[in-house]
Amino acid sequence: MLDNDCLFCKIIKGEIPSAKVYEDEEMHVFKDIAPKAKVHLLAVPKDHYKLLSEMDESRAETLSHILAKLPEIAEKNGCDNGYRLIVNQGDDAGQTVFHLHVHILGGENLPFE
Ligand code: 5GP
Ligand code: ZN
Repeated sequence: MLDNDCLFCKIIKGEIPSAKVYEDEEMHVFKDIAPKAKVHLLAVPKDHYKLLSEMDESRAETLSHILAKLPEIAEKNGCDNGYRLIVNQGDDAGQTVFHLHVHILGGENLPFE
């Protein structure tokens, strides 16, 4: 289910353009508009839900699908020497887009933060 007011749902529907690097039946992967590393991708499930804490069994399957695909997608997009995955959960983490997404950061030696 998509949410009409959600930025990432609009990207998934193609209403807002994005630099897409991968798509399948469960997810989109596109470049972050304000990259925090040489390579900064966002892996977004097609199904809209706001927070990691809304995870249930069926959603866990979607997330495991995303995690299973990410190594190949990361390596094909310039992260062949390693990368970092981040999920921001809620306000204290600085989450700004409330549609679950996994950040993929790499393409250079990352600072430890
Ligand atoms: P969060 O802080 O919620 O974990 O991450 C949201 C990310 O979405 C940020 O890194 C931000 O740069 C990215 N972002 C925000 N708006 C857009 C957009 O319109 N297009 C793309 N590709 N990324 C966006
Ligand atoms: Zn959404």
